[in-house]
Amino acid sequence: MAAASTRPQTGLSNAPQNGSKRDERGRAAVGSASLPLCAEEPRGLAAIDHLLPLPKAQLARRLVATGREPTAAEFDRAGLTLAAAEREALARWFEGGLETRVRERFRAADGTVKLRLALRDDREVETVAMPIGAVCVSTQVGCAVGCRFCASGLFGVERNLTVDEIVEQVVHARALMRIDRVVFMGMGEPSHNLEAVLGAVQRIKHEALISPRRQTLSTVGAVKVFERMAAAPVRPCLALSLHLADDTRRRELLPRAHKDDLADIVAAADAYGRAIRTPVQFEYTLLAGVNDGDDDVEALCELLRGVRGYVNFIVYNPVAGLPFAAPSRERIVEIVRRVKRRDILATIRDSSGIDAQAACGQLRLTAPR
Ligand code: SF4
Repeated sequence: MAAASTRPQTGLSNAPQNGSKRDERGRAAVGSASLPLCAEEPRGLAAIDHLLPLPKAQLARRLVATGREPTAAEFDRAGLTLAAAEREALARWFEGGLETRVRERFRAADGTVKLRLALRDDREVETVAMPIGAVCVSTQVGCAVGCRFCASGLFGVERNLTVDEIVEQVVHARALMRIDRVVFMGMGEPSHNLEAVLGAVQRIKHEALISPRRQTLSTVGAVKVFERMAAAPVRPCLALSLHLADDTRRRELLPRAHKDDLADIVAAADAYGRAIRTPVQFEYTLLAGVNDGDDDVEALCELLRGVRGYVNFIVYNPVAGLPFAAPSRERIVEIVRRVKRRDILATIRDSSGIDAQAACGQLRLTAPR
């Protein structure tokens, strides 16, 4: 692991520095941990909007989000030549750069990189960049759903991330590798922070130039959530975390998921998938002796009968202190075979970065320092 610089590279960084220099981690302005954080002095990407007029601010954001160097020449090329004062203002911005800081970096043998990011209030979230070109972003500090097999929800939720805190995770990942896909599957339940998440989808589309069709929101689901998503101006792909097809037992395994009946949640997810013309991904983390029985598989197939989508079976990744294990490989293969026999598409997801504790369900809330 290694501490890493998070300041974007820029040809403007040597310009005159006549602005106030901020604390490296922004601790001076830290106030309450509760939202809204945006009431505080704008920092990171948001601060650009206060430095430059609209078209130039948009270009600056896009350059940062796509990992390009925002030189004066880039602005000239776009017909948006910077005035001297604007160049200085932008250069001062780059002295601070992004609002979030890479505190630690863990590299797994398969090339996956987990970033531990410090937020402006010194809380931390984790982001995972994968060599397949995808980044898994967090949407909350912790998670309120408390799925019994997941590290992220062990200590509840502390706060929602802002739009910028989500978008910046993509920028950090892009500094490490090519990224053209975003999955909202890190720490947090995206539907509990839906406005910011959909705001981030929009910003990632316009600034990082990653289409919503290459962005996937993963949620435990609720009918109202899917209705809100369907009405949003940008509509990402949908992954619905099922993990069990039986309402009563699912409520035990996912204790604070929404209480809508599964049949209604699945129907609403299906309607959303049809509206955006993209099949829904149904996530099912396989837990030996918990949800891998023949009855469980049968119930799953019944629940998904006639639905347009596919099941993504997630091989459970061990979390220290939690009493769960993945079924044997033979059993997993048998489950997939059974589901396919019922004409339901199914895949197995072997998570990336297990040795860096970067795999699904392993991202963890840590206390502020
Ligand atoms: S699996 Fe997802 S919804 Fe469940 S506790 Fe973990 S982060 Fe939250």
